[in-house]
Amino acid sequence: TPRIIPASVHGIRPELVAWQAIRTCEALQRRGFKAYVVGGAVRDMLLGVKPKDFDVATDATPEEVKACQKRAIIIGRRFRLVHVIFGREVIECATFRSLDTEGVRKDAAGRVISDNIFGEMWEDAARRDFTINALYYDPSTQEVLDYHNGYEDLKDKCLRIIGDPEERYREDPVRMMRAVRIAAKLGFRIDESTRRPIPKMAYLLKNVPDARLFDEIIKLLTSGHAVACVEAFRKEGLHHGLLPVLDMMNTESAGEKFMMLALERTDERINAGKKTSPAFLFATLLWPQTLRRWESFEKKGKSRAQALYEACDVVLKTQCEKLVIQRRYMADIQMIWMLQYRFERRFGKMPFAQVNHPKYRAAYDFMLLRSQNGEVPVEVVEWWKNFYEADEAGRHEMIEQAE
Ligand code: ATP
Ligand code: MG
Repeated sequence: TPRIIPASVHGIRPELVAWQAIRTCEALQRRGFKAYVVGGAVRDMLLGVKPKDFDVATDATPEEVKACQKRAIIIGRRFRLVHVIFGREVIECATFRSLDTEGVRKDAAGRVISDNIFGEMWEDAARRDFTINALYYDPSTQEVLDYHNGYEDLKDKCLRIIGDPEERYREDPVRMMRAVRIAAKLGFRIDESTRRPIPKMAYLLKNVPDARLFDEIIKLLTSGHAVACVEAFRKEGLHHGLLPVLDMMNTESAGEKFMMLALERTDERINAGKKTSPAFLFATLLWPQTLRRWESFEKKGKSRAQALYEACDVVLKTQCEKLVIQRRYMADIQMIWMLQYRFERRFGKMPFAQVNHPKYRAAYDFMLLRSQNGEVPVEVVEWWKNFYEADEAGRHEMIEQAE
């Protein structure tokens, strides 16, 4: 049985709970089902932070959930979930999962490959990763239900895995990455027995499908705490040979400074509420290799433009295969890079086309980073800033002067 923590104790501010989550739970409860907000959202609310998304857990089956919501779709094959849709907001609604090992198939490495068997609420709690992620909030009573002492751990700023750490990491190695990422993001320490097995089990990440690693890496890099996360990953030995992206960053020591600059800037942007695109991020992470190839192709007698074009091509072809960078990002990455060459050309009609290019802002920000890294003279950055801000007559004047 869970510990029940009343609102008077936990003090979650009601305005942090999205009305869409409340409505989703109430619709289920009216029909006699259990329904709770669960996971990261409860953790964040307890920390006084507005959650970026809400998950709901219920004893209703996906079909039953769908039947009692106005707009909902059933998604997923391995884990069937319901997306309850409110315009642009989506509440993800999952049926309590069972602990029953009959329903869980594991591969040779002990990794869970299929489990679609529904269970009791306490089982659902036991299957979650960390104690602070296994808290349930009932919007109608405003109580928090706690099966694994997550409330105390949260107050204590301690990230602790539920169950036997080694077994849980073997089931799903991504939990190691989640442990380090979530602790770095929240500024929590990792409980010693949760932390200890990570370096020796890190190699298990090689069994995880690339697409899932990629998602996790994107989460990490866009968490607003990328610098802290990357440092923590290194400290915990989670980088070597496992995570192509982080590994790649490490091997290019010339790129190290550039990468950290890029991550710092990304953190700043995110913490200021601005957006960053995965394409921009990957453009920065892969840039040191591209730059090196650009220079070497040029030395071999290619024109500067052609050399850059070929460098982009080589890097994108080899890296994107490894990193499963989605195709839609690849075109943007290439554009950000190719526009770097055009920043060198401050004459004729070129600059007018440059500032009107849809990727101009991203390319300019990218050049700014390069200049902080000493690759581009500050006066060039200044020139483009002024050109961008100038009116038509002012721009023509600037070009005449530059020529
Ligand atoms: P974030 O702030 O990054 O969204 P989160 O804890 O909400 O953190 P999600 O990926 O949104 O992370 O997952 C929601 C919840 O699902 C988690 O809080 C946890 O209870 C559970 N969960 C997610 N991934 C795992 C996993 N690999 N193993 C066990 N439980 C998990
Ligand atoms: Mg979440």
